[in-house]
Parts: sequence; structure tokens; C-alpha cells
Amino acid sequence: MRFADGSTAAADAVIGADGVHSRVREILLGPEKPRFTGRVAHRTVFSSALMNGYLVETCTKWWGPDRHIVIYPVNPRRDETYFVTSVPDPDWDVESWSARGDMDAVRRAFGGFHEDVQKVLANCPSVHQWALFERDPLPRWTEGAIALLGDACHPMTPYMAQGAATALEDAATIARCLAAVDDPGEALRRYEAARKDRTARIQLTSRQNNWGKGATDPGWVYGYDAFETPLPA
Ligand SMILES: Cc1cc2nc3c(=O)[nH]c(=O)nc-3n(C[C@H](O)[C@H](O)[C@H](O)COP(=O)(O)OP(=O)(O)OC[C@H]3O[C@@H](n4cnc5c(N)ncnc54)[C@H](O)[C@@H]3O)c2cc1C
Repeated sequence: MRFADGSTAAADAVIGADGVHSRVREILLGPEKPRFTGRVAHRTVFSSALMNGYLVETCTKWWGPDRHIVIYPVNPRRDETYFVTSVPDPDWDVESWSARGDMDAVRRAFGGFHEDVQKVLANCPSVHQWALFERDPLPRWTEGAIALLGDACHPMTPYMAQGAATALEDAATIARCLAAVDDPGEALRRYEAARKDRTARIQLTSRQNNWGKGATDPGWVYGYDAFETPLPA
């Protein structure tokens, strides 16, 4: 490996866990920007005490025709409340961990929603804002002893809350494959074979944004155990 600062390193295997704009993906598969969905997510955690006695008890996703908001208490004490939205905004494609959103704009965006949503938004002090990007499932994740992991190979909309979850499943599976097989390239090919169908299905299901909207069998998502699922031969 050669790095931008001129340094180099050698390893038996390389794992590109470098996110949706992955440089390692680009080296393996060529330049291709992720697709901007034309939507932004507002996200925050704030003190429940600001809601004047109102407490969010459960995780609820409130859908409108073209937007939604997910609200839940962060811990069993319910003293912190979290929400994340998805709202159309085709002109704003900034991805940043520090970009601020405008709470008044969030309140306007959910103006006609249920009063429980209004109670949460009314006194929330601030919010961050992310543009949402995704990709189609990639044709391959590995080349020799180089492999991709997480958003580098299966970035998805957050509508099933599975992006980080599937990255952790990848990590568990890659560790099992490296322990099971001596040749790193072979281990990484097994990892790709073990993971690709599942993550592609989740990417494509998440894109539809109807997970849990009607009767939904959640077993195939939450019942999966990355430590126990048999590895392919
Ligand atoms: C609004 C929103 C809500 C979400 N909600 C959920 C949820 O509820 N549940 C869930 O499971 N997931 C959720 N996700 C998805 C989750 O955040 C991602 O899937 C997860 O962060 C992916 O992890 P990763 O390690 O693959 O990539 P990242 O977290 O993107 O990490 C990649 C790292 O690589 C570094 N990097 C990139 N390029 C280079 C380079 N050239 N050199 C060195 N370092 C580099 C980056 O700085 C970064 O630290 C959400 C995402 C968004 C945007």
C-alpha cells in the first residue's frame, strides 16, 4: 500500500472499510460516484426534559407520502430522545458529521404530522443534517487479498437501520473466514460469497422504504447470526 503522505506498508490482506466514497472500491472497480437520493436526513439526540413532561415511550416511524420521521428514547431512563428524518431536498448534497440543519425547517416539513411528532419537534433545540447516498449492489467485493467491507461495498439508505449493523456482520464474518482458511485471498472470497446476497437484499429492500409499514416478517433481518451462519465451502 502507498499512502498520500508518501509512506508505504505491506500486509497479507487489505480490508477497505473506508465508507460510501471508498478509495479502495475505486481502485478495485473504477471511479463511480454514489447516487444522491435527492433526500436529506435530519438527526439529533436531545434532553427529554425539554419536552415539558412529554415522554417518548416506544420507537415509532411516522410515514407521510414523501417523507418520514423515526423517533425513539435512547435509553431505558428515556431521558434522551432521538429522531431521524428523511425529507426531499434535491439541492442539498452535503455529507458531513458537523453540518447543522434548521429546526424551523424541520418543524415546517412535519407540520401536518401527528401531535406526538409536534411535541417532540416543538422544543428540540438543534439538529444535524446529512444528504443520503446509496449504490446498487456491486459486482464484486474482492480482488486477490483485497476486500471491501461495510459502506465501502454496500452503502444503503438508513430506512431499515442496517448500514452499521451489516458492517458489523461483515467484520464478524471476515474474522471467521480468516480464522478458517490459511490463504487470505481464499478467505476473502469466502467472505464475499457468505455476505453478498444478504446485503444486496437489504440494500434493495431498504431503498423501497416500506420495511415495517405493513405486516412484515422481520426474522430474516434480525434472526441472522453472523457468528453461527454456516460459511460457504
Ligand atoms: C442519517 C443516517 C442514519 C443512520 N442510521 C443507522 C442506524 O440506525 N443503524 C445502522 O446500522 N446504520 C445507520 N446508518 C448507516 C451507518 O452510519 C453506516 O452504514 C456506517 O457508518 C458504515 O460504517 P463503515 O465503517 O462501513 O463506514 P464509515 O462509518 O463511513 O467509516 C469509514 C471511515 O473511513 C474513513 N476514510 C474514508 N476514506 C479514507 C481514506 N482515503 N483514508 C483514510 N480513511 C478514510 C472515514 O473517515 C471514516 O472514518 C445511518 C446513516 C445515516 C446517514
